[in-house]
Amino acid sequence: MKKKVGFVGWRGLVGSVLLERMILKDDIYKFNIKFFTTSQVGHNGPKINNKKFGILENAYDLQKLTEMDIILTCQGSKYTEKVYFNLRKLGWKGFWVDASSHLRVNDNSIIVLDPINYNFIMKSIEGGCKTFVGGNCTVSLMLMALGGLFSKNLIKKIFVSTYQAVSGAGSYYIKNLLLEMGILHKSVKNDLYKNNISILKIENIISSLLKSKKNVGIFNNIPIAGNLIPWIDSDNLDGNSKEEIKGEFETNKILNLNKLKHKIIVDSLCVRVSTFRCHSQSLLIKLNKNMNISEIKDILMNHNKWVKIIQNDKLNTITNLTPAMVSRTLNILVGRIRKSNFGNKYINLFSIGDQLLWGASEPLRRMIKILIKL
Ligand code: NAP
Repeated sequence: MKKKVGFVGWRGLVGSVLLERMILKDDIYKFNIKFFTTSQVGHNGPKINNKKFGILENAYDLQKLTEMDIILTCQGSKYTEKVYFNLRKLGWKGFWVDASSHLRVNDNSIIVLDPINYNFIMKSIEGGCKTFVGGNCTVSLMLMALGGLFSKNLIKKIFVSTYQAVSGAGSYYIKNLLLEMGILHKSVKNDLYKNNISILKIENIISSLLKSKKNVGIFNNIPIAGNLIPWIDSDNLDGNSKEEIKGEFETNKILNLNKLKHKIIVDSLCVRVSTFRCHSQSLLIKLNKNMNISEIKDILMNHNKWVKIIQNDKLNTITNLTPAMVSRTLNILVGRIRKSNFGNKYINLFSIGDQLLWGASEPLRRMIKILIKL
């Protein structure tokens, strides 16, 4: 009998990328899928390869949800908070697979990233675990990039600065970044093509508009086009943002090190930038020993087939090591690999991956594949 999978949040950014991947990989026919919604109950579900997938069910109808063997949700933390515990209280024993962060800190959940923690996932299933959560996007991308070094216990600590795309905040922000760009362009359009206009006059119009926050400002009235915001997610009230504390906690949880003494220290500074898709990160890593760069490259490259090493020279870097180049691929780019001035155990590198693929939907798609085979 095919397993019944209820899919909530399938039309959001993560959900639609996941659905696209499930169709491409023919997963969608390996289980009986039902689509749920929080806002369009009774509307038609998606039409896939000319097949209609029924009417959208109410994502708050707990009885309907309990009929599912697996619930896959990309709806967000608020939805999980409202529904997950009530479902469990009703005695539902199915598998919950979630893109949101709400259950990541829960002791009964496993953060899934199977190229890194497949054995841990399988052991947890054997032990009765029913709740599987995708990791924070930059954490998953970092682990995919550094998988080789982690698997050989070569990393002592990491300082990471992120450069996160607007789509990391949800579907609303892609359109609104474009609108912001349009407003900025419109404000200087007539001056742009005049030969005798001072560039400072143009820059002044743009700067004043950005500061005025009038008509621009998609992140709580703060503009992101022509700007950046060095704060992501809420305030952890200890000088860190919530996004930053996920770095150390989730890295160690995925690697199953949280309960051990030799945890990996991860210090993060997370920045929203005006790229559309894909998250970049600059990493300063302290290794457990002095290693040469070619050995490090071999270890990174040989860990998983998605890591692509970009030669550390100007042409290769500016041509290939960009969010635009990696967008819509599963590649994890790793470049700028070099020794740091901090000492012979330190290295620097820069990595980029598509946060909607390895940073969100792909670990969940692969988790569903594991679960439907049980
Ligand atoms: P999103 O694009 O904002 O979608 C969330 C929900 O918003 C949809 O499922 C949909 O629910 C509703 N919605 C309302 N208007 C919509 C519209 N015009 N287009 C599409 N959906 C619309 O959120 P998301 O970025 O996919 O994130 C979902 C969860 O994944 C969050 O918990 C997030 O933290 C996590 N996550 C996101 C990323 C990322 O890069 N974005 C990465 C990792 C994890 P209804 O159909 O029920 O109305």
